[in-house]
Amino acid sequence: MNSVTSFDDFNLSKKILHAIKEMGFEEPTPIQVQAIPMLMEGHDVIGQAQTGTGKTATFGIPILERLNPRLRAVQALILTPTRELAIQVAEEISKIGRFKDVKTLPIYGGQSIDRQIRSLKFGVQVVIGTPGRILDHLRRKTLKLDKLSMMVLDEADEMLDMGFIDDIELILQETPPERQTLLFSATMPMQIQRLAKKYLNNPQSVTVSKDELTVPLIEQVFYEVRERQKLDALCRILDVAEAGLAIIFCRTKRGVDELVAGLQARGYQAEGLHGDLSQHQRNRVMKKFRDSSVEILVATDVAARGLDVENVTHVFNYDVPQDPESYVHRIGRTGRAGKTGIAITLVVPREYRQLRLIEKAAQTRIKRKPLPSLADVAEHQREMVAERVVNLIDEGKLGFYRTIVENLIDDYDTVDIAAAALKMALDLQLDEDISDEGPDVSFADTGAEPGMVRFFMNVGRQDEIKPQDIVKFIAEEAGVPGNIVGLIKIYDRFTFVEVPENTAEQVMYSINRSVIKGRKVNVEPARRRK
Ligand code: ADP
Ligand code: MG
Repeated sequence: MNSVTSFDDFNLSKKILHAIKEMGFEEPTPIQVQAIPMLMEGHDVIGQAQTGTGKTATFGIPILERLNPRLRAVQALILTPTRELAIQVAEEISKIGRFKDVKTLPIYGGQSIDRQIRSLKFGVQVVIGTPGRILDHLRRKTLKLDKLSMMVLDEADEMLDMGFIDDIELILQETPPERQTLLFSATMPMQIQRLAKKYLNNPQSVTVSKDELTVPLIEQVFYEVRERQKLDALCRILDVAEAGLAIIFCRTKRGVDELVAGLQARGYQAEGLHGDLSQHQRNRVMKKFRDSSVEILVATDVAARGLDVENVTHVFNYDVPQDPESYVHRIGRTGRAGKTGIAITLVVPREYRQLRLIEKAAQTRIKRKPLPSLADVAEHQREMVAERVVNLIDEGKLGFYRTIVENLIDDYDTVDIAAAALKMALDLQLDEDISDEGPDVSFADTGAEPGMVRFFMNVGRQDEIKPQDIVKFIAEEAGVPGNIVGLIKIYDRFTFVEVPENTAEQVMYSINRSVIKGRKVNVEPARRRK
């Protein structure tokens, strides 16, 4: 492996390093390598990078290192396009800062403003919010930015698309001019460049470019699962997969350890591979995997880099990879040297969009498959058992056992004897079906027909949206048949649309922040009007 930068090279405090380690980050992503040192030195930065490149930690780490913990005033403000992102960013920053005494608060529309005002009075130091609501607080004077030292515009082009550009300027004008400013955007349209020129001070630029991607020609499928049933789903897939050697990818070291423990507890021969292992341990694991005494290798991207093992039949993405490059690298571990392989991705609802982005960027097709049912697993087990029995008969050497059977044969049916013997030997446990635990977000009471969920979308007649556009949009983005779309009501500035409950999560996560007629869409479960 070449000498990659590690988090230790950034001169970070012990507390932050400890937290990053706990989060399971093995090494900084390219944007982190480039931008963290600049930010730590106090430079303004313009960063161009796609989703999933690790931008949150890029600004989160320097913010937490640079702010003054004793000063109980808002020192950092992060603007994000949506409330969902504001919450995500707040969660990640809390994790990075968990061993430091820093108060963070997400502020977004839709939440009680009184509660936000109360929280703000408690000396919050890092605020993450959507521009509209932040401006609202500034006007009410419930948010003061006179002590602000760092300002982040996260996903600036998305904020532009959502019509926030004027709000952002108004907010910037309320901040001290000597602040450090950071702007992230996947694209750099004129208006963003103009904003950067006006409000950033001698900024350094960083860009994370995309390599050309070639996807290996192997079968690619995905299964939709809920977060809590992931392990059960994986086991079920493994049970019917007839896998030779399988590599399962997890995003973090912690994820690797947890999955290995879970698989071993369920009787699978699995071992983990990640950056915390010594070279000796690593070699030992790899040897076992190469000579097939371990059939499942669970690994992080970094640990599996450059790994070349013959006869890997299955690659699993236990988490949807962060970016298309990583997807392509991962699945390239199978189907080597002209052998066939299959790549299987587990997708939880909030990852649909990421999966679609990967499909588009890598210009590949990942087919959806239904999870194997218990009946499928049982059928498969029947076949396996039969095969083992036949092998033993062929082998002979049954003398001792034959005597037992011969003693029983006068009183009992032969088939019963054989069946009971198998039951005793195998003690097959046909476990409970994986229960559907209901959606992760609440779709209760959206005012839809029974069995349907009603969504609110921020596009309407003024965007020249027609019902057939909505149907096509949902079908294409979410990968569902258009005819499942129910009642559509289009108003001037917004639209209500209903879809069946069992597709609601998938539809919402897929179409949210996608583009229809050149407009970025924001989707939320509708609220019933009182
Ligand atoms: P972006 O804002 O660029 O879309 P995020 O900051 O949301 O990306 O990061 C995407 C995911 O990658 C998150 O789950 C985050 O915890 C994880 N992540 C970030 N940096 C690293 C790293 N250095 N190693 C492993 N995972 C990381
Ligand atoms: Mg982000």
